[in-house]
Amino acid sequence: MDMEHDTLDDRFQRLSDRFVENLWEQEPEWATSVGYHKYDNLLPLPDSSRRARLLGFLQNWTDSLQAVEAGSLNSSNRISYNMLKNFLEMKKWELQYLKEYEWNPSIYNVAGTIAYMLSEDYAPLDERLNSCYERIVRIPAYYEAAKKQIRYNVDELRQLAIDQSLGGVSVFNKDFLDSVGKSGLNPEKRSQMVHAAQQAVAAINDYAQYLKQLKKPVKSFRLGKELYEQKFNFYIESAYTAGQMYDSALARKSYLHKEMARVSSDLWHKYFGKRQAPVDPLQLIALVIDTISTRHVKPSDFQSAIEKQLPDLVSFVNDKKLLYLDSSKPLVVRKEPAYMAGVAGASISAPGPYDKGGNTYYNVGSLEGWTAERAGSYLREYNHYILQILNIHEAIPGHYTQLVYANRNPSLVKTILANNATIEGWAVYTEQMMLENGYGNNEPEMWLMWYKWHLRTVCNTILDYNVHVHNMSRQDALDLLIKEAFQQKAEAEGKWKRVSVTSVQLTSYYSGYKAIYELREQMKSKEGPRFDLRVFHEKFLSYGNAPVKYISSAMLQGQ
Ligand code: ZN
Repeated sequence: MDMEHDTLDDRFQRLSDRFVENLWEQEPEWATSVGYHKYDNLLPLPDSSRRARLLGFLQNWTDSLQAVEAGSLNSSNRISYNMLKNFLEMKKWELQYLKEYEWNPSIYNVAGTIAYMLSEDYAPLDERLNSCYERIVRIPAYYEAAKKQIRYNVDELRQLAIDQSLGGVSVFNKDFLDSVGKSGLNPEKRSQMVHAAQQAVAAINDYAQYLKQLKKPVKSFRLGKELYEQKFNFYIESAYTAGQMYDSALARKSYLHKEMARVSSDLWHKYFGKRQAPVDPLQLIALVIDTISTRHVKPSDFQSAIEKQLPDLVSFVNDKKLLYLDSSKPLVVRKEPAYMAGVAGASISAPGPYDKGGNTYYNVGSLEGWTAERAGSYLREYNHYILQILNIHEAIPGHYTQLVYANRNPSLVKTILANNATIEGWAVYTEQMMLENGYGNNEPEMWLMWYKWHLRTVCNTILDYNVHVHNMSRQDALDLLIKEAFQQKAEAEGKWKRVSVTSVQLTSYYSGYKAIYELREQMKSKEGPRFDLRVFHEKFLSYGNAPVKYISSAMLQGQ
């Protein structure tokens, strides 16, 4: 190599590639999930020596980064540098201050990784099974170590861990065994595998049993102001503080209520004829929304209705020239796997940066076995209008489209250390952008329903902060969601469950949306008549999963 032409940027590229390689050795399960399979056979035990190794790794890399003259890097590398630095600080903070390993038993779960290795065709089946086997034989020791880490009983997380552990059992006693049956392995190896799977199932059941009888000091799931503000800074990487974002969400809620009252009053006579409209705007909105929400599919048609809408969204985006869609990466709609159940209703699983040919799945929660009342409530929530908005958000041009672009970004650091507010913010932003461009023919019903859906995003931020920082009670939370955000009871109860098992994550939607929307408006006023929406979208997405605050400063400087 000609060292004279070895620039600072070249050296930083090599440094960040080496970091990623080291990271996978430390985090082999994470590596598997993004499609890096060199360490597929490793399953580190979640004990104190592992945490000590991680801390050493983080400190070494903090030192290495300190030696880089960040100010002289090019714009793209400077963003990667900032993301790396934030990641190292966040991980140290997690280990030293958040200490989730002591109070969140749901972090101990290997079913997802094994399910991924069984369902993704990245290597011959026998090879994948051998790697699975090496992990599965360590599962009993893994759960023994997990039990020793738990020092507090957070009831909500304990329950989640029990549900998810038991939900994942079928990965071992069904999916894995089915694959063993289809393999070309010899009988001796097969019986070793069957035995290991049985031991794993016993260990998981034992762990669930241990959690059911957990006798540890009780601790609240609420994070409290200090940890919350810190976590918000690390995870969202916003230009605002958590408290400022909360205030902004409160103002947005008032604005949306005003808009919704205006549209509802315009729609009143269409649905209620000469009947007197309620004076209270929230009551008026609720009545109109309830009436419109009765337009929905049958429970058994939920998944097929989602599938049928996707081609229409593709045509709309292409016809309006909103952004380029890569048609070579098909989206596969599937029933949500059991190990994912319990938190969200629909989600996207995209192939990682090493697995670019892998499937992209649209995971849809099933309504099978639900009572008529529960299914009815759910379908009124995901009615004719909202189902379309859900598809925009999750698929086109929301998450699915964004993730296809993100995987094209050559920077591994940006892909791997993805900022969740950028990802969620983009999906939320596209809902509004599609409607602004005429999706839904400007029907007032579609706008009203989008306002309601958007209000959910806004209330996610309000709820999360109120619950974790202001100690909001379950009843007050349900009142907020049902009365002020017009949610069905089942939806509101699901959200309460989510806010009690996660923190900060719920704010990523509104935080990211606000940042992207503000950037677009700034670019419009900067570029004036030269502003082109398609160019803006494609440029924005070309930065991959970097935090919006860094994308903003680069785009506003014309980089
Ligand atoms: Zn989303």
